[in-house]
Amino acid sequence: MFGDDFQTSRLAIPAVSILIGFLAYTSQYFFLHFESVPLRKDEVWKINIFALCIWVCYFRSCYVDPGRLPASQKSANTSPEEKAHATRRQRWCRRCEAYKPPRAHHCKTCKRCIPKMDHHCPWTSNCVSHFTFPHFFRFLFYAVVGMGYLETLIWERASIVWGNRNLPSYLGPSVGQLSHLFLLFVVNSITVLTLFILLLRTLYSVLFNVTTIESWEIERHETLVRRARVLGGYLEGPGGQKIRIRKQEFPYDIGIFSNISQAMGGTINIFSWFWPFATTPDHNSGWEFPINDFEGPGVTWPPPDPDRIPFPATKPSATESPGIQTYASAREEVEAFNRRQLQDMNRRRPFSNVQRRKRFHDRVQQLDKNESDDERQPGPIYGDDSDDGEESWRNADGERLRDFGVDEDVEFYDEDDIPLGVLMEQRRQAQ
Ligand SMILES: [Zn+2]
Ligand SMILES: [Zn+2]
Repeated sequence: MFGDDFQTSRLAIPAVSILIGFLAYTSQYFFLHFESVPLRKDEVWKINIFALCIWVCYFRSCYVDPGRLPASQKSANTSPEEKAHATRRQRWCRRCEAYKPPRAHHCKTCKRCIPKMDHHCPWTSNCVSHFTFPHFFRFLFYAVVGMGYLETLIWERASIVWGNRNLPSYLGPSVGQLSHLFLLFVVNSITVLTLFILLLRTLYSVLFNVTTIESWEIERHETLVRRARVLGGYLEGPGGQKIRIRKQEFPYDIGIFSNISQAMGGTINIFSWFWPFATTPDHNSGWEFPINDFEGPGVTWPPPDPDRIPFPATKPSATESPGIQTYASAREEVEAFNRRQLQDMNRRRPFSNVQRRKRFHDRVQQLDKNESDDERQPGPIYGDDSDDGEESWRNADGERLRDFGVDEDVEFYDEDDIPLGVLMEQRRQAQ
């Protein structure tokens, strides 16, 4: 559904425009020439007002800038104050070479980090983001309401044609009219049903302040918690690090009314939520989001994920990564050994519900072993099309991370705990 390739993205906007035009205008042509039920004036008005709202919201969803990081935040010169405060986990985008704000993701098509990215929509050829979400939501809303209304008008005519099916055919509509009516009915029904499902899903995003990508992250987190429960509360990360996994609450759900207001551009004016010409959210917003206080300070989203830590990770110190276990004493090491043994047993157990694909860092180690003599460039060993790696983990809807349009190569393995200050220092040394 969210798949994307060059051809479809170029054809998407003309195709959707043709669809809107077909349903909105050829339907009126049909209604005007279908004599059994004359079209009333108020019906003409309603169809055209809905069509206008759909056009405006659709083109705004397509052409409003989904947002970009302000140039000032791209600067590699972090102030000492910022360095001192870089205790909580900072995310870093390898592609943009810039700090990645909370809830931002790197879009493969837009080729940059997009604030509060929901997904890259192939039908608008644009990202649904903090800035385009209100337009996208209004588009879905007016499309469903408008096409739902059209469905009632089509249904009214179709039931008359059906009722008169036994009359001599010269009394009824022509073959052309019948085909047109049939086509309108089929196309409108399928489109309105599909968009209705998408609207419900989007409404869930609005009410709970969860983007489509974050829904995936929540499911992923729940899977890891289940795995860890079987394996003694810990999962193994790169280099045998033990990473403690505990259930974490989603932090951005701040109450239904605030959630809706944030999604619809930060305004509490209910009229503007539905106004097609409402202004796009302010461009200074979208980089910081208020969080609820279910979790203590220093707990970040997405939660720690041992399979998403890139390898080789810098040997983390205890202060940098509170979630990572190092062995302080021999007793602890013995306990860890026992846990590993339990883990092995669970892996061998035929009906164990813990399934794990080959982990990224294991594959890298394997590659290093096999190709240690070659001058191997650190190439894209991850993010390929195979289903072997943990990056191909799919949620209940069968979606993996890249199905939302994100650049999986940098997104899946970008959840490291390296503070920004350290990264900056590394970069400066490398140059
Ligand atoms: Zn980026
Ligand atoms: Zn995009």
